[in-house]
Amino acid sequence: MRIDLHTHSTASDGTQSPADVIASAAQAGLDVVALTDHDTSSGWPEATAAADRLGLRLVPGVEISCLLRGVSVHLLSYLHDPEDPVLVGMLAESRASRVGRARQMVERLTPDTGLRWDDVLEQVHGAATIGRPHIADALVARGVVGDRDEAFATLLSGRSKYFVPQTAPDPVEAVRRVRHAGGVPVIAHPAASKRGCCIADEEIEAMAEAGMAGLEVDHRDHSDAERAHLREVARDLDLFVTGSSDYHGAGKRNRLGENTTDPESLERLDAIAASTRAVHPLP
Ligand code: AMP
Ligand code: ZN
Ligand code: FE
Ligand code: FE
Repeated sequence: MRIDLHTHSTASDGTQSPADVIASAAQAGLDVVALTDHDTSSGWPEATAAADRLGLRLVPGVEISCLLRGVSVHLLSYLHDPEDPVLVGMLAESRASRVGRARQMVERLTPDTGLRWDDVLEQVHGAATIGRPHIADALVARGVVGDRDEAFATLLSGRSKYFVPQTAPDPVEAVRRVRHAGGVPVIAHPAASKRGCCIADEEIEAMAEAGMAGLEVDHRDHSDAERAHLREVARDLDLFVTGSSDYHGAGKRNRLGENTTDPESLERLDAIAASTRAVHPLP
């Protein structure tokens, strides 16, 4: 059983359609794949149909933007009710804040690069969740930088004078809302030190007390030492651990199945979803 629980499509900042992500997952020899676009579940129907066709299991998910002490924290939610009004409202607010924030970044970039808002919109598929990768693609199209990596290392980095943060919910509040919507919350790349860093162990504990169920441990942004420490934290707090690619198609180096999740963790995820649903019955 090969299981990859974190991928992105053109519903957010990946470069492949949801159906193409699933087709690539089948080619990569995966049996189970989760689609976890940023702040949207709009890719689920297309991904579900593709997975049915190709005989894979799709685990529907979302990667929810959160902010903790001004640091960006990503919360994965799996198997929640995509129509839960509280969660839907929270994600809609985040997407709206992402648009305002991207516009502000473009305003800062215009004098120095000539970048325009329309250039960015050209890179966004339909109503996809907008993010810095789309600004990166627009800068590439204008010839300002060579690729997304260069854009993130320079103009779009969190330390750049062009950077503007988005507003986003507190992670403990997001965990509560995910559980209430019947979902299973897992912290994405909790130790990814490249991103300005990190969630403290006590903060992971507070999220666990609010109902957080797992930690994404095997992720390319984690060192061996970070993985070992996170495994200990998971053991102490009785959380399951996952491993995932965080695939973005051609937009990032991450390859499908480069990290995978044990079937036992997926069983725990499924069991929690089933018991949460019993407490909060879905229509
Ligand atoms: P944002 O959500 O707008 O703050 O942008 C962050 C997103 O950009 C995350 O999904 C990252 O996976 C993605 N990202 C970060 N670094 C890079 C990179 N070097 N190349 C492509 N995408 C990246
Ligand atoms: Zn992304
Ligand atoms: Fe993330
Ligand atoms: Fe991601």
